[in-house]
Amino acid sequence: MTQPKLSNSKLFRQACYIGGEWVGAQSGETLDVDNPANGDILGQVPNCNAQDAARAIAEADKGFQVWRKKTANERSECLYRWYQLMLDNTEDLGKLMTLEQGKPLAESKGEVQYAASFIKWFAEEARRSYGETIPGAKPDQHIVVTRQPIGVSVAITPWNFPAAMITRKAGAALAAGCSMIVKPAEATPYTALALAHLSAEAGIPAGVLNVITGKPRPIGEAFTSSPVVRKLSFTGSTVVGGKLMAQCAEHIQKVSLELGGNAPFIVFDDADLDKAVEGAMASKFRNTGQTCVCANRFLVQDSVHDAFVEKLTAAMKKLKVGDGFEEGVNQSALINRAAVEKVTQHYEDAMSKGAQRVYGPVPEGKKGNYVEPLLLTDVTPDMQLCHEETFGPLAGIIRFKTEEEAIRIANDTPYGLAAYYYSQNIHRVWRVADGLDSGIIGVNEGAVSNATAPFGGMKASGLGREGSRHGMEEYEEIKYLCMGGE
Ligand code: NAP
Repeated sequence: MTQPKLSNSKLFRQACYIGGEWVGAQSGETLDVDNPANGDILGQVPNCNAQDAARAIAEADKGFQVWRKKTANERSECLYRWYQLMLDNTEDLGKLMTLEQGKPLAESKGEVQYAASFIKWFAEEARRSYGETIPGAKPDQHIVVTRQPIGVSVAITPWNFPAAMITRKAGAALAAGCSMIVKPAEATPYTALALAHLSAEAGIPAGVLNVITGKPRPIGEAFTSSPVVRKLSFTGSTVVGGKLMAQCAEHIQKVSLELGGNAPFIVFDDADLDKAVEGAMASKFRNTGQTCVCANRFLVQDSVHDAFVEKLTAAMKKLKVGDGFEEGVNQSALINRAAVEKVTQHYEDAMSKGAQRVYGPVPEGKKGNYVEPLLLTDVTPDMQLCHEETFGPLAGIIRFKTEEEAIRIANDTPYGLAAYYYSQNIHRVWRVADGLDSGIIGVNEGAVSNATAPFGGMKASGLGREGSRHGMEEYEEIKYLCMGGE
């Protein structure tokens, strides 16, 4: 067992944070957490069940009663302190994240700052939860609209961004005046628990932010079968998101779903190819291809196809695969064996249907879940990698002839999270923006995630938006007061 070496050892927590206390599962059961780079066991966290979740819900309800009475300014100040503490502990949080998730240390530290930016943003937004007044329907009537926190909220989050997927939910919920229970992914609980420790240091009252670890199904069912829980925010796969949405129907719980994507990355013949390659590298290879907004399909126009492939290959040659703690590494181990197998399967399927391998070795999968970056050409829309998220460093290029064809292929998916395209023709830029069915569009830009913008998808990619002013609305109820006269 390798224990993390941190400057602030209190950040390494192996218990759940419920009602302001560090507790184990009532059953005493635990789950191992490992390092995907080498399989070493890092430690254990409680394997909580439905009873533990019920306790967390009761504590979150108590926390809500305290928190909702705070002024917006008080909430804002607590959030701001939490933000500052995250920044102060960037180094340690980054190390914890690399240990449990695998991503290169520089990316982990970058994620800590990105995660903290949501808390800062919502600390500011907390003060701006404005209502409105509307002219009455009768001469002596006034209509006033207020916003109030929806209540106890729960978040179920994935492993690919162990900090940011939590803060963009918790920041919004707490700013709105809600309490929250977070159920992080089994693979990455330590970052979540460290954030809970810092929330307590920031003065966020007991029960307002809770973190529960364990197997997802019993905890999820406890959340969705409780009428006390008024909101569920989920980030993860479309299959699980759909199931949770159905479960939420019982008590008409409000849902936000940030689900899978299948992002097209289109390069038109009038693109700046160097910029397109830069954007392609950022979009495809960040987090070793394990982001929901990763370019999943490259569509390149006939006349620039070969030049783009050449430039992209040159850029990919600079990628360095290895342990996330090694200097210069920017491609790490994937999260687990299943992830390696999925990339391998997409590769083999594409090759069997006529794709050409232009860069990278045949994936073999060694100890440590590594896959070398791969570039394929002659990809066609019938290949598996065009229909499912690859979630790994495999880039496949489809050649197209016309703008209409590119838009048709780009939209030919049940998903609609992110899309990217490169063009220097302003008329085309608007036409394509209007034509793509995606919630997030990068126009001559490969890095689209930030706290100030509404993040979310269309179609099977989900419901609701996170970040921006819209993110807070997801945790609010609108109440209208009809003020009668005499
Ligand atoms: P996943 O299997 O759906 O897991 C996500 C979370 O749901 C984890 O905490 C998981 O717990 C939990 N979970 C699994 N089954 C559950 C159930 N029956 N009831 C309640 N909770 C359940 O997804 P993943 O493979 O870990 O994550 C990758 C997916 O997330 C990709 O599809 C990616 O595109 C998507 N994603 C979307 C966004 C976005 O903003 N749209 C951002 C990041 C990732 P365990 O970990 O304990 O199994």
